[in-house]
Amino acid sequence: RAKDAGRNRFEYYKPEMNTKALQRLHLENALRSAIAENQLMVYCQPKVNVNSGAVVGLEALLRWKHPQLGFVSPAEFIPVAEESGLINEIGDWVLRQTALQQRLWQSHGYAIVPIAVNLSARQCGQKDLVEKIQTIVRDTGLPPQFIEFELTESMLMDMGVNCLELMNKLSSAGFSLALDDFGTGYSSLSRLKLLPVKTLKIDQSFVRDIATDENDEIIVNATAVLAHAMEMKVVAEGVETQQQLEFIRDLQCEEYQGYLFSRPVPPDEAEQFLRQD
Ligand code: C2E
Ligand code: MG
Ligand code: MG
Ligand code: MG
Repeated sequence: RAKDAGRNRFEYYKPEMNTKALQRLHLENALRSAIAENQLMVYCQPKVNVNSGAVVGLEALLRWKHPQLGFVSPAEFIPVAEESGLINEIGDWVLRQTALQQRLWQSHGYAIVPIAVNLSARQCGQKDLVEKIQTIVRDTGLPPQFIEFELTESMLMDMGVNCLELMNKLSSAGFSLALDDFGTGYSSLSRLKLLPVKTLKIDQSFVRDIATDENDEIIVNATAVLAHAMEMKVVAEGVETQQQLEFIRDLQCEEYQGYLFSRPVPPDEAEQFLRQD
């Protein structure tokens, strides 16, 4: 591919750049200009009620389409954005886009379901994060209750009491909170109870083999019991098959996300899920 690129263009596959560090640097430089060059997009994936099949929420998921590299996976570029600090600017952009899209849907008479935005550890380390979030959302005219923030369980450990403080501030400001990738961290039960969190999202690694791996079934069941005891609801991530759906439904998860219902799609495709007949 690098062969096709012009002399001064971004050349990713040059042999002398063959080290991880250089690739990373190039990815970082490319990402730096991605916002200005309109290469970023916010896709949406529905959250679905396991019993009714109704769309009850959306998750905003960032997509980066680089002119030469094509779609770069968030698993690849989010860590680069984190380490370089670019995630702060990108995160602001994602939130603004998401809130604007939500406002647009509201004004066009679509069904309004809360839309979730992911926050990463670096973003949550910003001192003025809550004020900034409030300003962005206020500027779009969207009431805060239509936005939910997903923080990962592992951030609880890494950030400790600061994470609790942040969550309390976001919650007081009217935003909903969910704990993402649940089961992959080691949150203490005593601390979980203190969190202003409405939803636990069970990590997809426990859903993948749920039909064949009894341990996964046990973990999902225990998580659901725990969540319900704390008056939280449970969302299962990564549901790809009808069989997985039946398992998580039997284990009392309320909602799911996954390719079975829909992949993350651009906003104009997500509209079909929000039509009110
Ligand atoms: P996440 O928040 O846990 O998002 C769920 C991931 O699972 C998404 O990957 C989604 O596309 C994928 N997924 C959904 N259903 C299925 C399924 O049925 N099967 C499989 N195999 N995968 C499924 P994606 O979009 O690649 O995002 C990966 C991670 O990148 C996210 O994990 C999140 O941690 C991060 N991320 C994405 N967008 C943003 C963003 O705007 N800001 C921040 N800070 N992080 C983001
Ligand atoms: Mg998420
Ligand atoms: Mg997750
Ligand atoms: Mg994840």
